[in-house]
Amino acid sequence: MSTTHDVINPATEEVVTTLDLVGVEETDAAIAKAVEVGPAWRAVSPADRGMLLRRFADVVEEHTEELARLEVTNAGHTIGNARWEAGNVVNVLRYYSAAPERLFGRQIPVAGGLDVTFKEPLGVVSVIVPWNFPMPIAGWGFAPALAAGNTVVLKPAELTPLTAIRLGELALQAGLPEGVFTILPGKGSVVGERFVTHPDVRKVCFTGSTAVGQGIMRKAADQLKRVTLELGGKSANIVFADADVEKAAASAPMSFLDNAGQDCCARTRILVQRKVYDAFMERFEAAIRAVRVGDPGDESTEMGPMVSSGQRDTVRSFVEDAEATGHAAPDIAFRGAAPSGKGWWYPPTVLMAHGTGDRAWREEIFGPVVSVMPFDDEADAIAKANDTAYGLSGSIWTRDVGRAIRVSRAVEAGNLSVNSHSSVRYSTPFGGFKASGIGRELGPDALDAFTETKNVFFDTQA
Ligand code: NAP
Ligand code: MG
Repeated sequence: MSTTHDVINPATEEVVTTLDLVGVEETDAAIAKAVEVGPAWRAVSPADRGMLLRRFADVVEEHTEELARLEVTNAGHTIGNARWEAGNVVNVLRYYSAAPERLFGRQIPVAGGLDVTFKEPLGVVSVIVPWNFPMPIAGWGFAPALAAGNTVVLKPAELTPLTAIRLGELALQAGLPEGVFTILPGKGSVVGERFVTHPDVRKVCFTGSTAVGQGIMRKAADQLKRVTLELGGKSANIVFADADVEKAAASAPMSFLDNAGQDCCARTRILVQRKVYDAFMERFEAAIRAVRVGDPGDESTEMGPMVSSGQRDTVRSFVEDAEATGHAAPDIAFRGAAPSGKGWWYPPTVLMAHGTGDRAWREEIFGPVVSVMPFDDEADAIAKANDTAYGLSGSIWTRDVGRAIRVSRAVEAGNLSVNSHSSVRYSTPFGGFKASGIGRELGPDALDAFTETKNVFFDTQA
Protein backbone atom coordinates (compact mmCIF):
# COMPACT_ATOMS: atom_id res chain seq x y z
CA MET A 1 0.00 0.00 0.00
CA SER A 2 1.50 3.30 -0.99
CA THR A 3 0.65 6.57 0.68
CA THR A 4 1.62 10.08 -0.30
CA HIS A 5 2.54 13.19 1.60
CA ASP A 6 2.12 16.83 0.55
CA VAL A 7 5.19 18.88 1.40
CA ILE A 8 3.97 22.36 2.29
CA ASN A 9 5.80 25.70 2.35
CA PRO A 10 5.22 27.02 5.90
CA ALA A 11 5.50 30.66 4.82
CA THR A 12 2.83 30.42 2.10
CA GLU A 13 0.86 27.23 2.87
CA GLU A 14 1.37 26.20 -0.77
CA VAL A 15 2.04 22.58 -1.71
CA VAL A 16 5.66 22.32 -2.84
CA THR A 17 5.55 18.73 -4.00
CA THR A 18 3.83 15.44 -3.27
CA LEU A 19 5.97 12.49 -2.28
CA ASP A 20 5.34 8.78 -2.25
CA LEU A 21 6.05 7.55 1.25
CA VAL A 22 8.16 4.47 1.76
CA GLY A 23 6.52 1.47 3.41
CA VAL A 24 7.81 -1.51 5.38
CA GLU A 25 8.66 -3.56 2.29
CA GLU A 26 10.87 -0.87 0.78
CA THR A 27 12.46 -0.28 4.19
CA ASP A 28 13.27 -3.97 4.51
CA ALA A 29 14.72 -3.98 0.98
CA ALA A 30 16.95 -0.97 1.80
CA ILE A 31 18.15 -2.62 5.01
CA ALA A 32 18.89 -5.85 3.11
CA LYS A 33 20.89 -3.86 0.57
CA ALA A 34 22.77 -2.07 3.39
CA VAL A 35 23.64 -5.47 4.85
CA GLU A 36 24.75 -6.77 1.45
CA VAL A 37 27.10 -3.88 0.65
CA GLY A 38 28.42 -3.65 4.22
CA PRO A 39 31.47 -5.92 3.85
CA ALA A 40 32.66 -4.13 0.69
CA TRP A 41 32.23 -0.72 2.34
CA ARG A 42 34.20 -1.66 5.43
CA ALA A 43 36.89 -3.16 3.18
CA VAL A 44 37.44 0.19 1.39
CA SER A 45 40.89 1.29 2.53
CA PRO A 46 40.91 3.97 5.23
CA ALA A 47 42.49 6.52 2.89
CA ASP A 48 39.93 5.85 0.16
CA ARG A 49 36.99 5.99 2.57
CA GLY A 50 38.28 9.34 3.82
CA MET A 51 38.68 10.56 0.25
CA LEU A 52 35.11 9.54 -0.64
CA LEU A 53 33.78 11.49 2.34
CA ARG A 54 35.81 14.55 1.31
CA ARG A 55 34.40 14.22 -2.22
CA PHE A 56 30.90 13.99 -0.74
CA ALA A 57 31.65 17.18 1.24
CA ASP A 58 32.84 18.93 -1.93
CA VAL A 59 29.69 18.00 -3.83
CA VAL A 60 27.48 19.19 -0.96
CA GLU A 61 29.46 22.44 -0.86
CA GLU A 62 28.89 22.98 -4.60
CA HIS A 63 25.15 22.61 -3.92
CA THR A 64 25.00 24.83 -0.80
CA GLU A 65 22.70 27.41 -2.35
CA GLU A 66 20.34 24.81 -3.82
CA LEU A 67 20.10 22.93 -0.52
CA ALA A 68 19.62 26.15 1.44
CA ARG A 69 16.80 27.32 -0.86
CA LEU A 70 15.17 23.91 -0.56
CA GLU A 71 15.18 24.26 3.24
CA VAL A 72 13.73 27.77 3.09
CA THR A 73 10.87 26.37 1.01
CA ASN A 74 10.35 23.15 2.94
CA ALA A 75 10.97 24.20 6.55
CA GLY A 76 10.62 28.00 6.52
CA HIS A 77 14.19 28.45 7.76
CA THR A 78 15.74 31.85 7.15
CA ILE A 79 18.10 31.80 4.20
CA GLY A 80 21.03 32.76 6.45
CA ASN A 81 20.36 29.83 8.78
CA ALA A 82 19.77 27.45 5.89
CA ARG A 83 23.14 28.29 4.34
CA TRP A 84 24.80 27.67 7.70
CA GLU A 85 22.98 24.33 7.93
CA ALA A 86 24.19 23.15 4.51
CA GLY A 87 27.67 24.36 5.44
CA ASN A 88 27.45 22.39 8.66
CA VAL A 89 26.95 19.19 6.66
CA VAL A 90 30.09 20.05 4.66
CA ASN A 91 32.08 20.73 7.84
CA VAL A 92 30.91 17.58 9.60
CA LEU A 93 31.74 15.44 6.56
CA ARG A 94 35.22 17.00 6.34
CA TYR A 95 35.81 16.62 10.07
CA TYR A 96 34.93 12.91 10.02
CA SER A 97 36.67 12.29 6.68
CA ALA A 98 39.86 12.31 8.74
CA ALA A 99 38.50 9.56 10.99
CA PRO A 100 38.97 6.40 8.88
CA GLU A 101 42.75 6.88 9.01
CA ARG A 102 42.67 7.74 12.72
CA LEU A 103 40.35 5.07 14.07
CA PHE A 104 43.06 4.04 16.51
CA GLY A 105 42.88 1.10 18.83
CA ARG A 106 45.32 0.56 21.67
CA GLN A 107 48.19 -1.74 22.42
CA ILE A 108 47.92 -2.76 26.05
CA PRO A 109 50.82 -4.31 28.00
CA VAL A 110 49.99 -7.88 29.05
CA ALA A 111 52.02 -10.94 30.05
CA GLY A 112 52.83 -13.61 27.46
CA GLY A 113 51.68 -11.84 24.34
CA LEU A 114 50.45 -8.85 22.44
CA ASP A 115 47.12 -7.23 23.24
CA VAL A 116 45.45 -4.94 20.72
CA THR A 117 42.04 -3.28 20.50
CA PHE A 118 40.16 -2.55 17.30
CA LYS A 119 37.19 -0.24 16.66
CA GLU A 120 34.85 -2.32 14.56
CA PRO A 121 31.84 -0.93 12.70
CA LEU A 122 28.42 -1.95 14.02
CA GLY A 123 26.93 -2.87 10.63
CA VAL A 124 23.73 -1.14 9.55
CA VAL A 125 23.10 2.09 11.45
CA SER A 126 19.74 3.87 11.26
CA VAL A 127 19.29 7.60 11.69
CA ILE A 128 15.89 9.13 12.52
CA VAL A 129 15.81 12.87 11.91
CA PRO A 130 13.28 15.45 13.20
CA TRP A 131 11.93 18.39 11.21
CA ASN A 132 13.63 21.18 13.13
CA PHE A 133 17.16 20.89 11.69
CA PRO A 134 16.84 18.44 8.80
CA MET A 135 20.35 18.86 7.36
CA PRO A 136 22.62 19.21 10.39
CA ILE A 137 21.00 16.46 12.45
CA ALA A 138 21.16 14.08 9.49
CA GLY A 139 24.87 14.85 9.04
CA TRP A 140 25.71 14.37 12.73
CA GLY A 141 24.45 10.82 12.33
CA PHE A 142 25.49 9.72 8.86
CA ALA A 143 28.96 11.32 8.65
CA PRO A 144 30.60 9.60 11.65
CA ALA A 145 28.61 6.40 11.02
CA LEU A 146 29.92 6.13 7.44
CA ALA A 147 33.43 7.15 8.48
CA ALA A 148 33.51 4.30 11.00
CA GLY A 149 32.66 1.80 8.25
CA ASN A 150 28.93 1.36 8.83
CA THR A 151 26.23 1.49 6.19
CA VAL A 152 23.36 3.89 6.89
CA VAL A 153 19.62 4.04 6.39
CA LEU A 154 18.13 7.44 7.19
CA LYS A 155 14.55 8.53 7.74
CA PRO A 156 13.86 12.26 7.48
CA ALA A 157 10.81 13.72 9.22
CA GLU A 158 7.69 13.46 7.11
CA LEU A 159 7.32 17.26 7.20
CA THR A 160 10.84 18.03 5.94
CA PRO A 161 12.24 15.31 3.67
CA LEU A 162 13.52 17.33 0.70
CA THR A 163 17.10 18.17 1.72
CA ALA A 164 17.76 14.64 2.97
CA ILE A 165 16.56 13.17 -0.33
CA ARG A 166 18.91 15.54 -2.16
CA LEU A 167 21.84 14.64 0.12
CA GLY A 168 21.24 10.98 -0.74
CA GLU A 169 21.50 11.81 -4.46
CA LEU A 170 24.64 13.91 -3.91
CA ALA A 171 26.28 11.00 -2.06
CA LEU A 172 25.87 8.81 -5.14
CA GLN A 173 27.14 11.62 -7.37
CA ALA A 174 30.24 11.85 -5.15
CA GLY A 175 30.92 8.16 -5.70
CA LEU A 176 29.58 6.48 -2.57
CA PRO A 177 28.51 2.99 -3.61
CA GLU A 178 24.79 2.32 -3.98
CA GLY A 179 23.20 1.02 -0.77
CA VAL A 180 25.82 2.45 1.57
CA PHE A 181 23.66 5.48 2.39
CA THR A 182 19.92 5.27 1.69
CA ILE A 183 17.25 7.88 2.40
CA LEU A 184 13.81 6.51 3.25
CA PRO A 185 11.12 9.21 3.43
CA GLY A 186 8.18 7.76 5.33
CA LYS A 187 6.23 7.85 8.54
CA GLY A 188 7.82 7.49 11.96
CA SER A 189 5.24 4.87 12.84
CA VAL A 190 6.21 2.83 9.75
CA VAL A 191 9.83 3.38 8.67
CA GLY A 192 11.08 4.57 12.08
CA GLU A 193 9.41 1.66 13.85
CA ARG A 194 10.91 -0.79 11.38
CA PHE A 195 14.41 0.51 12.08
CA VAL A 196 13.83 -0.29 15.73
CA THR A 197 12.35 -3.76 15.22
CA HIS A 198 14.49 -4.99 12.30
CA PRO A 199 17.13 -7.40 13.64
CA ASP A 200 19.76 -6.36 11.06
CA VAL A 201 19.73 -2.73 12.17
CA ARG A 202 22.35 -2.55 14.91
CA LYS A 203 21.85 1.00 16.07
CA VAL A 204 19.21 3.72 16.19
CA CYS A 205 20.45 7.27 16.25
CA PHE A 206 17.35 9.31 17.12
CA THR A 207 16.64 13.01 17.58
CA GLY A 208 13.16 14.17 18.49
CA SER A 209 10.67 14.21 21.32
CA THR A 210 11.36 12.62 24.68
CA ALA A 211 8.22 10.48 24.48
CA VAL A 212 9.16 8.90 21.14
CA GLY A 213 12.77 8.49 22.31
CA GLN A 214 11.62 6.61 25.40
CA GLY A 215 9.50 4.30 23.25
CA ILE A 216 12.46 3.60 20.97
CA MET A 217 14.71 2.78 23.91
CA ARG A 218 12.10 0.43 25.36
CA LYS A 219 11.70 -1.46 22.08
CA ALA A 220 15.43 -1.45 21.36
CA ALA A 221 15.93 -3.38 24.59
CA ASP A 222 14.40 -6.49 22.95
CA GLN A 223 17.46 -6.79 20.71
CA LEU A 224 19.90 -4.92 22.96
CA LYS A 225 20.09 -2.50 20.06
CA ARG A 226 22.40 0.47 20.58
CA VAL A 227 20.73 3.87 20.83
CA THR A 228 21.81 7.47 20.82
CA LEU A 229 19.00 9.78 21.85
CA GLU A 230 18.95 13.56 21.45
CA LEU A 231 15.69 14.70 23.00
CA GLY A 232 14.06 17.86 24.26
CA GLY A 233 15.27 20.73 26.36
CA LYS A 234 14.18 23.56 28.63
CA SER A 235 17.45 25.37 28.92
CA ALA A 236 18.21 28.20 31.32
CA ASN A 237 19.82 31.52 30.47
CA ILE A 238 21.19 32.81 33.81
CA VAL A 239 22.01 36.51 34.00
CA PHE A 240 23.93 37.61 37.10
CA ALA A 241 23.98 41.24 38.27
CA ASP A 242 27.75 41.40 37.66
CA ALA A 243 27.30 40.56 33.94
CA ASP A 244 27.35 42.86 30.95
CA VAL A 245 23.58 43.15 31.29
CA GLU A 246 23.22 45.18 28.12
CA LYS A 247 24.90 42.49 26.05
CA ALA A 248 22.98 39.72 27.84
CA ALA A 249 19.66 41.46 27.08
CA ALA A 250 20.59 42.26 23.48
CA SER A 251 21.54 38.64 22.75
CA ALA A 252 18.68 36.98 24.65
CA PRO A 253 16.08 37.20 21.83
CA MET A 254 17.91 35.04 19.30
CA SER A 255 18.85 32.53 22.02
CA PHE A 256 15.22 31.34 21.91
CA LEU A 257 13.92 32.78 18.61
CA ASP A 258 16.44 31.20 16.30
CA ASN A 259 14.59 28.79 13.99
CA ALA A 260 11.34 30.25 15.37
CA GLY A 261 12.13 28.63 18.71
CA GLN A 262 12.06 25.15 17.20
CA ASP A 263 15.43 24.34 18.66
CA CYS A 264 16.16 21.81 21.38
CA CYS A 265 18.89 24.16 22.71
CA ALA A 266 16.60 27.21 22.91
CA ARG A 267 17.17 29.16 26.14
CA THR A 268 13.50 29.27 27.08
CA ARG A 269 13.86 29.98 30.80
CA ILE A 270 15.57 33.28 31.53
CA LEU A 271 16.72 33.70 35.14
CA VAL A 272 17.71 37.26 36.03
CA GLN A 273 19.25 38.36 39.32
CA ARG A 274 16.66 40.53 41.05
CA LYS A 275 18.93 43.58 41.33
CA VAL A 276 19.15 43.94 37.55
CA TYR A 277 15.74 42.48 36.63
CA ASP A 278 14.14 45.80 35.62
CA ALA A 279 17.19 47.01 33.73
CA PHE A 280 17.37 43.69 31.87
CA MET A 281 13.67 43.64 30.99
CA GLU A 282 13.74 47.16 29.63
CA ARG A 283 16.56 46.38 27.21
CA PHE A 284 15.20 42.91 26.44
CA GLU A 285 11.85 44.40 25.39
CA ALA A 286 13.53 46.80 22.98
CA ALA A 287 15.54 43.92 21.52
CA ILE A 288 12.46 41.71 21.10
CA ARG A 289 10.53 44.46 19.34
CA ALA A 290 13.43 44.92 16.92
CA VAL A 291 13.51 41.27 15.74
CA ARG A 292 12.65 41.02 12.05
CA VAL A 293 10.03 38.29 11.53
CA GLY A 294 8.96 37.61 7.97
CA ASP A 295 9.75 36.07 4.58
CA PRO A 296 12.45 33.50 5.33
CA GLY A 297 13.91 33.91 1.84
CA ASP A 298 14.70 37.58 2.54
CA GLU A 299 18.37 38.11 3.51
CA SER A 300 17.52 40.43 6.40
CA THR A 301 14.91 38.20 8.06
CA GLU A 302 15.84 36.89 11.51
CA MET A 303 12.84 34.65 12.18
CA GLY A 304 10.52 32.78 9.83
CA PRO A 305 7.26 30.88 10.36
CA MET A 306 6.59 27.79 12.46
CA VAL A 307 7.08 24.53 10.56
CA SER A 308 3.40 23.49 10.58
CA SER A 309 -0.05 24.59 11.65
CA GLY A 310 0.00 21.73 14.18
CA GLN A 311 3.18 23.05 15.78
CA ARG A 312 1.67 26.54 15.95
CA ASP A 313 -1.45 25.10 17.63
CA THR A 314 0.81 23.47 20.22
CA VAL A 315 2.48 26.81 20.92
CA ARG A 316 -0.89 28.55 21.21
CA SER A 317 -2.00 25.95 23.75
CA PHE A 318 0.64 27.38 26.09
CA VAL A 319 -0.35 31.02 25.57
CA GLU A 320 -3.64 32.25 24.13
CA ASP A 321 -5.37 28.85 24.33
CA ALA A 322 -4.01 27.94 27.79
CA GLU A 323 -7.37 28.29 29.54
CA ALA A 324 -9.15 26.34 26.82
CA THR A 325 -6.81 23.43 27.52
CA GLY A 326 -7.39 23.57 31.28
CA HIS A 327 -4.37 25.62 32.37
CA ALA A 328 -3.92 29.03 33.93
CA ALA A 329 -3.49 31.87 31.43
CA PRO A 330 0.11 33.06 31.44
CA ASP A 331 1.21 36.64 32.10
CA ILE A 332 2.44 38.10 28.81
CA ALA A 333 5.14 40.71 29.46
CA PHE A 334 5.52 41.84 25.85
CA ARG A 335 5.54 40.50 22.30
CA GLY A 336 7.21 41.18 19.00
CA ALA A 337 5.59 41.45 15.62
CA ALA A 338 4.71 38.74 13.08
CA PRO A 339 3.11 38.85 9.64
CA SER A 340 -0.58 38.03 9.32
CA GLY A 341 -2.30 36.17 6.50
CA LYS A 342 -1.04 33.00 4.89
CA GLY A 343 1.77 31.18 6.68
CA TRP A 344 2.18 29.69 10.13
CA TRP A 345 3.40 32.84 11.88
CA TYR A 346 3.71 33.31 15.59
CA PRO A 347 5.08 36.43 17.29
CA PRO A 348 8.05 36.40 19.67
CA THR A 349 6.41 36.17 23.08
CA VAL A 350 7.83 36.87 26.55
CA LEU A 351 6.03 35.51 29.61
CA MET A 352 6.58 36.42 33.25
CA ALA A 353 6.64 33.17 35.18
CA HIS A 354 4.37 32.97 38.23
CA GLY A 355 6.49 30.16 39.64
CA THR A 356 8.45 27.06 38.73
CA GLY A 357 5.18 25.10 38.54
CA ASP A 358 3.94 27.02 35.46
CA ARG A 359 3.32 24.75 32.50
CA ALA A 360 5.17 27.20 30.22
CA TRP A 361 8.13 27.13 32.63
CA ARG A 362 8.29 23.33 32.79
CA GLU A 363 7.36 21.98 29.36
CA GLU A 364 9.19 22.27 26.07
CA ILE A 365 7.05 24.57 23.90
CA PHE A 366 9.19 24.43 20.75
CA GLY A 367 8.13 27.84 19.56
CA PRO A 368 9.14 31.50 19.98
CA VAL A 369 8.06 31.73 23.62
CA VAL A 370 10.25 32.40 26.65
CA SER A 371 9.53 32.72 30.38
CA VAL A 372 11.43 35.06 32.67
CA MET A 373 11.89 34.77 36.44
CA PRO A 374 14.02 36.67 38.97
CA PHE A 375 16.44 34.96 41.38
CA ASP A 376 18.21 36.09 44.55
CA ASP A 377 21.70 34.61 44.69
CA GLU A 378 23.96 32.02 43.08
CA ALA A 379 22.49 29.09 45.01
CA ASP A 380 18.95 30.15 44.07
CA ALA A 381 19.95 30.46 40.40
CA ILE A 382 21.48 26.97 40.34
CA ALA A 383 18.51 25.41 42.13
CA LYS A 384 16.03 27.02 39.73
CA ALA A 385 18.10 26.17 36.64
CA ASN A 386 18.26 22.51 37.69
CA ASP A 387 14.58 22.26 38.62
CA THR A 388 13.70 20.59 35.31
CA ALA A 389 13.51 17.11 33.87
CA TYR A 390 15.79 18.23 31.01
CA GLY A 391 19.49 19.01 30.79
CA LEU A 392 20.56 19.88 27.28
CA SER A 393 21.98 23.37 27.13
CA GLY A 394 22.19 26.74 28.84
CA SER A 395 24.01 30.05 29.21
CA ILE A 396 25.63 31.85 32.12
CA TRP A 397 26.27 35.60 32.05
CA THR A 398 28.77 36.93 34.60
CA ARG A 399 32.09 38.80 34.70
CA ASP A 400 33.23 36.87 37.77
CA VAL A 401 35.50 34.04 36.59
CA GLY A 402 35.12 32.01 39.78
CA ARG A 403 31.36 32.21 39.54
CA ALA A 404 31.43 31.24 35.87
CA ILE A 405 33.39 28.11 36.76
CA ARG A 406 31.26 27.23 39.81
CA VAL A 407 27.94 27.69 38.06
CA SER A 408 28.95 25.95 34.85
CA ARG A 409 30.02 22.95 36.93
CA ALA A 410 26.78 23.02 38.94
CA VAL A 411 24.23 23.30 36.11
CA GLU A 412 23.14 19.81 35.05
CA ALA A 413 23.33 20.14 31.26
CA GLY A 414 25.49 18.80 28.46
CA ASN A 415 26.29 22.04 26.60
CA LEU A 416 26.83 25.32 28.36
CA SER A 417 28.19 28.63 27.20
CA VAL A 418 29.49 31.50 29.30
CA ASN A 419 28.79 35.03 28.05
CA SER A 420 27.47 33.61 24.77
CA HIS A 421 24.68 31.37 23.52
CA SER A 422 26.64 29.01 21.35
CA SER A 423 25.70 25.33 21.64
CA VAL A 424 26.94 23.47 18.65
CA ARG A 425 30.39 23.15 17.18
CA TYR A 426 31.11 20.14 15.00
CA SER A 427 34.43 19.54 16.77
CA THR A 428 33.00 19.44 20.33
CA PRO A 429 30.62 16.96 21.97
CA PHE A 430 26.88 17.63 21.93
CA GLY A 431 24.17 15.90 23.94
CA GLY A 432 22.05 15.96 27.04
CA PHE A 433 21.87 15.10 30.72
CA LYS A 434 18.71 13.67 32.30
CA ALA A 435 15.63 13.53 30.04
CA SER A 436 17.49 15.34 27.25
CA GLY A 437 19.02 12.13 26.02
CA ILE A 438 21.69 9.48 26.04
CA GLY A 439 25.05 9.64 24.33
CA ARG A 440 26.98 12.38 22.60
CA GLU A 441 27.21 13.41 18.96
CA LEU A 442 29.92 15.41 17.18
CA GLY A 443 33.45 16.02 18.43
CA PRO A 444 36.32 13.57 18.72
CA ASP A 445 34.42 10.86 20.64
CA ALA A 446 31.29 10.44 18.48
CA LEU A 447 32.92 7.54 16.64
CA ASP A 448 32.67 5.51 19.85
CA ALA A 449 28.90 5.60 19.38
CA PHE A 450 29.27 3.97 15.95
CA THR A 451 31.83 1.28 16.77
CA GLU A 452 32.34 -1.68 19.07
CA THR A 453 35.67 -2.14 20.82
CA LYS A 454 37.21 -5.52 20.08
CA ASN A 455 40.09 -6.80 22.18
CA VAL A 456 42.46 -9.40 20.67
CA PHE A 457 45.24 -11.21 22.55
CA PHE A 458 48.05 -12.77 20.49
CA ASP A 459 49.97 -15.47 22.38
CA THR A 460 53.70 -15.03 21.76
CA GLN A 461 54.76 -18.16 23.73
CA ALA A 462 53.95 -20.56 20.90
P1 NAP B 1 8.83 13.16 17.07
O1 NAP B 1 7.49 12.55 16.90
O2 NAP B 1 9.68 12.69 18.17
O3 NAP B 1 9.58 13.00 15.65
C1 NAP B 1 10.98 12.90 15.46
C2 NAP B 1 11.30 11.86 14.40
O4 NAP B 1 10.91 10.56 14.88
C3 NAP B 1 10.54 12.05 13.10
O5 NAP B 1 11.35 11.62 12.02
C4 NAP B 1 9.37 11.12 13.27
O6 NAP B 1 8.81 10.73 12.05
C5 NAP B 1 10.00 9.95 13.98
N1 NAP B 1 9.08 9.10 14.73
C6 NAP B 1 7.86 9.42 15.22
N2 NAP B 1 7.31 8.36 15.84
C7 NAP B 1 8.21 7.35 15.77
C8 NAP B 1 8.23 6.01 16.23
N3 NAP B 1 7.21 5.50 16.92
N4 NAP B 1 9.31 5.24 15.97
C9 NAP B 1 10.36 5.75 15.29
N5 NAP B 1 10.40 7.01 14.80
C10 NAP B 1 9.34 7.81 15.05
O7 NAP B 1 8.71 14.72 17.20
P2 NAP B 1 7.56 15.64 16.57
O8 NAP B 1 6.21 15.02 16.66
O9 NAP B 1 8.02 16.03 15.23
O10 NAP B 1 7.65 16.91 17.54
C11 NAP B 1 7.00 16.86 18.80
C12 NAP B 1 7.81 17.58 19.85
O11 NAP B 1 9.09 16.96 20.00
C13 NAP B 1 8.15 19.02 19.55
O12 NAP B 1 7.13 19.88 19.86
C14 NAP B 1 9.37 19.21 20.41
O13 NAP B 1 9.00 19.49 21.73
C15 NAP B 1 10.07 17.88 20.36
N6 NAP B 1 11.18 17.84 19.35
C16 NAP B 1 12.43 17.91 19.79
C17 NAP B 1 13.46 17.89 18.87
C18 NAP B 1 14.88 17.96 19.28
O14 NAP B 1 15.70 18.45 18.51
N7 NAP B 1 15.25 17.47 20.43
C19 NAP B 1 13.19 17.81 17.52
C20 NAP B 1 11.86 17.72 17.10
C21 NAP B 1 10.88 17.74 18.04
P3 NAP B 1 7.55 11.52 11.44
O15 NAP B 1 7.80 12.97 11.60
O16 NAP B 1 7.54 11.13 10.01
O17 NAP B 1 6.39 11.05 12.21
MG1 MG C 1 5.48 13.06 16.34
